[in-house]
Amino acid sequence: MTDIRDGLVGAIGETPLLRLARASAATGCEILGKAEFLNPGGSIKDRAALGIIRDAEQRGWLRPGGLIVEGTAGNTGIGLALIGRALGYRSLIVMPETQSQEKRDMLRLAGAELELTPAVPYVNPDNYVRVAQRRAAERAASEPNGAIWANQFDNLANREAHRATTGPEIWRQTGGRIDAFTCAVGTGGTLAGVGRALKERRPEVRIVLADPHGSALYSYFAEGHLRAEGNSVVEGIGQGRITRNLDHAAIDDQERIGDDEALAVLFDLAEHEGLLLGGSSGINVAAAIRVARKLGPGHTVVTVLCDHGTRYQSKLFNPAFLRQKGLPVPAWLEGEPPH
Ligand code: PMP
Repeated sequence: MTDIRDGLVGAIGETPLLRLARASAATGCEILGKAEFLNPGGSIKDRAALGIIRDAEQRGWLRPGGLIVEGTAGNTGIGLALIGRALGYRSLIVMPETQSQEKRDMLRLAGAELELTPAVPYVNPDNYVRVAQRRAAERAASEPNGAIWANQFDNLANREAHRATTGPEIWRQTGGRIDAFTCAVGTGGTLAGVGRALKERRPEVRIVLADPHGSALYSYFAEGHLRAEGNSVVEGIGQGRITRNLDHAAIDDQERIGDDEALAVLFDLAEHEGLLLGGSSGINVAAAIRVARKLGPGHTVVTVLCDHGTRYQSKLFNPAFLRQKGLPVPAWLEGEPPH
C-alpha cells in the first residue's frame, strides 16, 4: 500500500475536520472547522479553481497553453494560477486594489499577470468582475492558445466542486452526525454546494448563512429583498446579488456577524488554539457559535476555516490597521515586532 498524491493538484481537498476546543466548551456542542487553509494554495478556493479548470477542459474550452482570466478577491486567483502552472496554463487575475498586499505578492509568486481595479460595485463597468469578463473576450481573440473567463460567481462548476468533494468529506468525517452547517458567501459555491451535498444525505441538516455587514444577503434571506448596510474589513465574502451558484440554495436560517464579534473569535483562536486564520473564518466560527447556542448542548455544528491568517498580517493582525478602523487590538498583538 502506498499513499501518494499527484503533485499540487493531488494535494487539494481531503482536509482535516478540526474540533474547536473553546467554542465547543462554551456551547456544549461539537463545533468543527473544515481546515481549508491547509489546501496547497492556502484556501478553500483551490477546490473551486480546480473544478472550474477541469470542467473547462472537459468542454474543450481550455486548450493547452491557454490563458485563464478571472476576477477575484485573491484566493480563487491564487488557486487558478498555481493549478495553471501545474497543468500548463497561464493566468490573468483582476483584483480590487483594496485586497491585502500579501495576496498581491502571492499572485506574483504564482506567476499570474495581475491587474488591479478600483473597488467599485458590480454595476460599474470598472468592477473587477466586469473587467475580467472584458479582458477574457479581448485575450480570447489575441492569445495563440485562446483564453477563458473562469466566472466563479456564475459558473456552476464552482458549486459542483463543493457538492462533489467538500460536502461528502464533511459527511464522512462526522459519520453523518451533523446538525448544522454554516458559512459565509462570496460566490456562494461553498454554502450552496456543501448544503446540497448534506441535504441529499440528511434533509434535516440546518444550512445557515453567515453574513458580514455590507453584504445584501442577510436581508434577502430574512426579509426577501437585497439590502446592504454597514461595512466590513473582512475580505473574500459579502455579496450584493444572487449569483447563479447561490440561486435556489436551500438555506434554513441566517446570522449577521459584525467585525467586532468575528475578530474576537479570530484572535481567541489564535491566542488559545494556535490557529491563525483569515477574517472569513472568524465570521464563520462566530456564526457556528450562535447556531450552537440556538440548538442547545449536544449538537454538532460544522463550519469552514477558509484561509490562513498569514494572508492578512498587514491588516487584521496589524495593530495600526485595527486602530485606524476603530477595532480592538488584542494585548498579545501589541508591542514592537522583534528585529
Ligand atoms: N473566505 C475567503 C477568504 C474567500 O476568499 C472566499 C471566496 N472569495 C470565501 C470565504 C467565500 O467562498 P465562496 O466563494 O465559496 O462563497
